[in-house]
Amino acid sequence: MSTLRFKALETLPFKDFRKDNSVEIPAKLSELFCKNVFSEETMREYLTKEAFSSIMDAIKKGTKIQRHIADQVAVAMKDWAMSKGVTHYTHWFQPLTGTTAEKHDSFFTPIEGGRAIERFSGNMLIQQEPDASSFPNGGIRNTFEARGYTAWDPTSPAFIMGTTLCIPSIFISYTGETLDYKAPLLRALSAVDEAATNVMQYFDKNVTKVTPTLGWEQEYFLVDSALYQSRPDLVLTGKTLLGHSPAKGQQLDDHYFGSIPTRVMNFMKELEIECMKLGIPATTRHNEVAPNQFELAPMFEEVNVAVDHNSLLMDIMARVAHKHHFHILFHEKPFAGVNGSGKHNNWSLATDTGENLLSPGKNPKKNLQFLTFFVNTIKAVHEYADLLRASIASASNDHRLGANEAPPAIISVFIGSQLFSVLEELEKVTNGKLSPEEKTELKLNVVGKIPEILLDNTDRNRTSPFAFTGNKFEIRAVGSSANCAESMTVMNTIAAKQLNDFKKEVDTLIEGGLKKDEAIFNVLREYIKQSKSIMFEGDGYSDDWAKEAKKRGLNNLKTTPEALKQEMDKKFLDLYEEMGIFNHREVEARNEIKLEKYSTVIDIEARVLSDIARNHIIPSALNYQNRLIENVKGLKDIFGDKDFKPLAKEQMSLITDISENVSKIKLGVEGLIKAREAAKSVSNSQKQAEDYCNKVKPLFDGIREASDALEMMVDDELWPMTKYREMLFTK
Ligand code: ADP
Ligand code: MG
Repeated sequence: MSTLRFKALETLPFKDFRKDNSVEIPAKLSELFCKNVFSEETMREYLTKEAFSSIMDAIKKGTKIQRHIADQVAVAMKDWAMSKGVTHYTHWFQPLTGTTAEKHDSFFTPIEGGRAIERFSGNMLIQQEPDASSFPNGGIRNTFEARGYTAWDPTSPAFIMGTTLCIPSIFISYTGETLDYKAPLLRALSAVDEAATNVMQYFDKNVTKVTPTLGWEQEYFLVDSALYQSRPDLVLTGKTLLGHSPAKGQQLDDHYFGSIPTRVMNFMKELEIECMKLGIPATTRHNEVAPNQFELAPMFEEVNVAVDHNSLLMDIMARVAHKHHFHILFHEKPFAGVNGSGKHNNWSLATDTGENLLSPGKNPKKNLQFLTFFVNTIKAVHEYADLLRASIASASNDHRLGANEAPPAIISVFIGSQLFSVLEELEKVTNGKLSPEEKTELKLNVVGKIPEILLDNTDRNRTSPFAFTGNKFEIRAVGSSANCAESMTVMNTIAAKQLNDFKKEVDTLIEGGLKKDEAIFNVLREYIKQSKSIMFEGDGYSDDWAKEAKKRGLNNLKTTPEALKQEMDKKFLDLYEEMGIFNHREVEARNEIKLEKYSTVIDIEARVLSDIARNHIIPSALNYQNRLIENVKGLKDIFGDKDFKPLAKEQMSLITDISENVSKIKLGVEGLIKAREAAKSVSNSQKQAEDYCNKVKPLFDGIREASDALEMMVDDELWPMTKYREMLFTK
């Protein structure tokens, strides 16, 4: 009975492989940096001058790469890769499955005369056809209708994994619709570049390009791989569906920023070495709040590269964890009762002149520039909060949002009380022309104060989903398992749209006779007024906020189906179309994919829970109950009918409790099966997801409660499921 748990536990403490996996970090980690990346420096070495400058133009200006140049680049990439023992290449892309995809092809090409060569041409570099027609496409890509192909994205550098050259690519259908996370992201990045560069002409005409930046912070759990394998729910759903919380959880806060356990340290060291080679600038590592929970953060990078690096990192983390006999969990809520994992996305805008547009400068002009981008970002979030919410929606993230450990599902913006008072001052700016006195006052005492304020910007609010943190905004509600691209596509699209609108409004006022600064102040004043309802400085976890938010007309989209329903609002469809990100058909397809994924996740969880409850929990409970019955019978034999009862009192009450809980599980599972079947037969995806959310998922709780109660009653020796304390406290 319950052998898997005990076999797994037996392997734990003494096995050499767990102790001896020590990793030495080279004295100069920096020497490894970008060793496996076809970086700018490598390109300079391997490419002709012409090819090099053509690639740089493609990266910096988005110009097209000509075929003969692509041929040169391909040969150079192949030579470089082969010098490092590479034999295969793949277009590396990010389909809507949420993981990365690759199809390896060999450089090896047979030629006539029984000979063979290594070949890699411009055509092969530019395009590849993954023949798998089973990537999610929401009906866009019927297998018979049109195939999809991957296309090289020269703005993200190629890299080597193992013996394969990986070429970052986008994935699109032959009819031009996007089938991945990256293609729409690139469109959004180019939209915000154009919009922000236009706005920058008010402040600095030297700026010709604006690049959004992203610094993500990745949280994760590590579980011993043997223990992981012993839990069918973890293996099949990425989370535990049952399990009593341990006596000690995170109450003592003794794990957070504590010393890192040796085995984890070895994992982290090896991970850092891998990151360095792949050019991922990992800089921060520490323990997180929950036991066995950790975080990794790199230096920020251009959004496109940062997104690729996060996807790549998640892949490498899983591999390196494996080597150290860990399994890595990216699920947002793998364990009930302890904190879940998120992925904070720090976002800003950088110019090609080296400025951060969300950082105030040394003179009033720079500060007005800061205010412009600052207020426009807030306004963008105000206008499109629900779209931002939808971009982070997933079945797993639902467990985290609003669970008093992560921001609520209500989108609001935190800027700190001092900046908030600056905005309140700006609300008082005169309508139309400003007097010289007012201008001076604004320059010196309102806008002029910003740098000082930010120097001392210790004001942090962990309960806000969208917080200004000194020189960037931090989107704090992104799920740990999510692809950053989705929220980044929305963030940059809405920023672009907002900056376009701003430019138009300011230009109109200038044409109407206002000076540039006056026009900007006038438009910002209105934006601040209009966006007031989204700004919130208080405790986002409190019930009062939910009430207050409702009064302010902010949506509280608690579940994925609710959030995804909003995503189909005409306002958002039009936005995407206007900004050239998606046509209606593409939004519909993506929405459909997400709804289907949601339903599938809940469906799988329901099945796994039913199986475990019936095939593992009930039999063990009955097994233990039988022991108790034997014991009671024995007592009766020894002490006789009259005297045995007081002696068997506790056992008899346990026998009853076990029966009650077993019956709760049995009835619960029967109900769950019925609800599941009903939901499964619903044909409309939105309605189906709602049914899974409202009629299937709530039934998990009763089953879990009964099972967790049994865990506290049944002899530890007979309990089949590896316990929370074992998974969370094994180092
Ligand atoms: P914390 O939020 O934990 O207090 P920091 O404020 O130092 O830590 O930074 C957190 C993250 O913000 C880091 O991952 C960093 O890369 C990122 N970051 C810093 N500056 C920028 C920026 N201009 N654009 C995007 N991300 C940034
Ligand atoms: Mg942070």
